[in-house]
Amino acid sequence: MIVTGADYVASLRGRNLRVFLLGERVAEPVDHPIIRPSINAVARTYDLAVEHPELATAWSTLSGRPVNRFLHVTESVADVVAQNRMQRRLGQLTGTCFQRCVGMDAINSLFSVTFEMDQAHATPYHGRFRRFIANMQQENFVVGGAMTDPKGDRSQGPSEQADPDLFVRVVERRPDGVVLRGAKMHQTGCINSHWIVVMPTMRLGPADRDYAVVGAIPVDAPGLTFIYGRQSCDTRALEGGDIDQGNARYSGQEAMILIDDVFVPTERLFMDGETEFAATLVERFTAYHRRSYVCKTGLGDVLIGAAALAADYSGVAGASHVRDKLVEMAHLNETIYGAGIASSHESHATAAGNFEPDDLLANVCKHNVTRFPYEMARLAQDLAGGVVATLPSEKDFDNPETGPLLRKYLKAREGVPAEARARITRLIENMTLGRNAVGYLTESMHGAGSPQAQRIQIARQMGLEEKKQLAKRLAGIPD
Ligand code: SF4
Ligand code: FE
Repeated sequence: MIVTGADYVASLRGRNLRVFLLGERVAEPVDHPIIRPSINAVARTYDLAVEHPELATAWSTLSGRPVNRFLHVTESVADVVAQNRMQRRLGQLTGTCFQRCVGMDAINSLFSVTFEMDQAHATPYHGRFRRFIANMQQENFVVGGAMTDPKGDRSQGPSEQADPDLFVRVVERRPDGVVLRGAKMHQTGCINSHWIVVMPTMRLGPADRDYAVVGAIPVDAPGLTFIYGRQSCDTRALEGGDIDQGNARYSGQEAMILIDDVFVPTERLFMDGETEFAATLVERFTAYHRRSYVCKTGLGDVLIGAAALAADYSGVAGASHVRDKLVEMAHLNETIYGAGIASSHESHATAAGNFEPDDLLANVCKHNVTRFPYEMARLAQDLAGGVVATLPSEKDFDNPETGPLLRKYLKAREGVPAEARARITRLIENMTLGRNAVGYLTESMHGAGSPQAQRIQIARQMGLEEKKQLAKRLAGIPD
């Protein structure tokens, strides 16, 4: 069983995965300098559970013992709230995406959806799924949830595409299971997972039966290929040194998963043909996942701290406009957190007995996340000054000819070494332009659904007719 971060890193070794990065097959992802920081971020989730079990573990009735919170099926409102608290803390500790929430949210949404499918169709999915989760809890594995398909022509559904593989589908049925083919895009932490759970990505019609499939696949299954997504400034990790990377220890991970005829045994199938439950699953998953984006407030805490230090190092910490910009950043950050934690506090019990957050507030949280980190990044760059985009490299600091001159001319306030100023500048660059801008900005935009997806959900739930009635009554307009 995996307990510590070190156990986790050891568990990833020697899996012989088919991983490609920068045009080459990666022999051992654990040792690749571009990949390793993303593994460190997941390892941090294990260490947090050891250091702070009250934050990152929970008592599981399913297993009859404490389990990692990322594998826990929520049993109360407090459990849902605790997920958000843990996510903010891990964002503060890593300054990046720590990748495990996708699995947590998939486990919780599938727990209730498999129960409801069984009620409607007398299928055996829920019991199977409980056994799967108990097994994951037993080993303390990382489970990834794989939802987003390539989608091809967005005006066409899965079964209407010119190429039928643009959504993951069943290509063959055998007595003991099914064979899957297709791809999943933008998969957070997939190479750092032990298992991935493949799920449909959108509402399906009766013609899409082969696309209505949920199944668990071990990451080292034959037929899986992973192609690593580039991140801005990723090759700085190959240069040596630790200043220019900004956050040398931690990064996020997104990769494309190619599923080239992978067999999934019956015992690991949790939906197979129940097209009418695809939309339910997507909506339930996004209710969890969109308020999981309070993770970004942990990153926001780091960015606010970095901006405050940059101002302090420059000697302008006392200026009122500096204070005001920091207050503005804090206000934006807490507005994100406010909606997310409120969504969790408004959780309700599902028919299966676990708890799920309020959907409208979850969508408001995620919609705030598509905007506010960008404004916070703008303010951080404002406070950091132009040097955030013009600072010479660490190698120039190390060069005996240029190093002393850089230390002389890049020193600002007395008592603050130029290197400290360079490090905090690079951290701001990392989060707003570099590797972790992937997690802090663009993932904030598109992860868990792009802005329009939240507007659709908000529109569905905003209760416009009821609001019109309220206005009419007060204005004295008869029906
Ligand atoms: Fe978790 Fe946030 Fe990363 Fe999603 S983006 S996996 S919610 S840390
Ligand atoms: Fe994500």
